Amino acid sequence: MLEKFERYPLTFGPTPIEKLGRLSAHLGGGVEIYAKREDCNSGLAFGGNKVRKLEYIVPDAIKANADTLVTIGGVQSNHTRQVAAVAAKIGMKCRLVQESWVPFQDAVYDRVGNILMSRVMGAEIELVDEGFDIGIRESWERALEDVKAKGGNPYPIPAGASVHKYGGLGFVGFAEEVRAQEADLGFKFDYVVVCTVTGSTHAGMLVGFAKDGRAHRVIGIDASGTLEQTRAQVMEIAQGTADLVELGRDIADDDLVLIGDYAYPAYGVPSEETNDAIRLAARMEGMMTDPVYEGKSMQGMIDLIRKGYFPAGSKVLYAHLGGVPAINGYSYIYRNG
Ligand SMILES: *Cc1c(COP(=O)(O)O)cnc(C)c1O
Repeated sequence: MLEKFERYPLTFGPTPIEKLGRLSAHLGGGVEIYAKREDCNSGLAFGGNKVRKLEYIVPDAIKANADTLVTIGGVQSNHTRQVAAVAAKIGMKCRLVQESWVPFQDAVYDRVGNILMSRVMGAEIELVDEGFDIGIRESWERALEDVKAKGGNPYPIPAGASVHKYGGLGFVGFAEEVRAQEADLGFKFDYVVVCTVTGSTHAGMLVGFAKDGRAHRVIGIDASGTLEQTRAQVMEIAQGTADLVELGRDIADDDLVLIGDYAYPAYGVPSEETNDAIRLAARMEGMMTDPVYEGKSMQGMIDLIRKGYFPAGSKVLYAHLGGVPAINGYSYIYRNG
């Protein structure tokens, strides 16, 4: 589906699919859980889902003769860390706007994990005191103007690399990759579980899996806490991406499954149930997840399995999108494990 698009390789190649046998058995054995390890997709500062998206965005930045990648996220944003790594790798500068999207006050929140790595990789970081919003932000537009005023040529990458013309392509590629891996495995996955916030990961999967009629088998677990805004943004990106790849059909409202039950108490703040899910995956599989994103989709998947949402015998593919570095900003919660 992506033959006509330019891709700048930043990942190791197809990501491994791993069976989570102990977690499956612990949850009753009725459902077989597998994980597709996007968290291990690249050597660029721990990688993650934004690197897969950026492979289709970087060629456009190079064509535009840009010298500075400019993007935005929360203080512990995984996305900004991945953009900083990509900028270093392709020899561009990086300007990051990091807003106070998360009402969480660990003493070292703005010193460790993602933001630490972005600083070490040479990104110029501006901390801005604004709350959570997945839309286009004034602070980001100001940063773009500032780079221009200083004689630079900025390339704008929106939050999560989502509301960008090519933002959905990377995860169309994910679906194609899963299809190829299924052919080798000799079976097909019945469901894919994915964490959804700025939307282009889920949107790309919708388009990629629509090709073989499985869009509605992608189960989005919202972690934004702004469900309707995220739903609208996923639909818009999915439709734009479907047109771009000439899918040949529209993405319909009932293609999108987005469950809002696990985002509480707020974006970036884990509930007790999120923390239980993080510990369970860690203790059963040695697989780390984070309190902002993947811990919530892990919590959602576990709860849905316990509730019998997936018919017995289902094979469920958990898309592990990365994000573990952020857990360092939550050290007090996990001080005793
Ligand atoms: C950004 C991110 C997500 C959400 O992906 P979107 O494309 O923004 O919806 C999920 N998990 C991790 C680890 C992320 O960094």
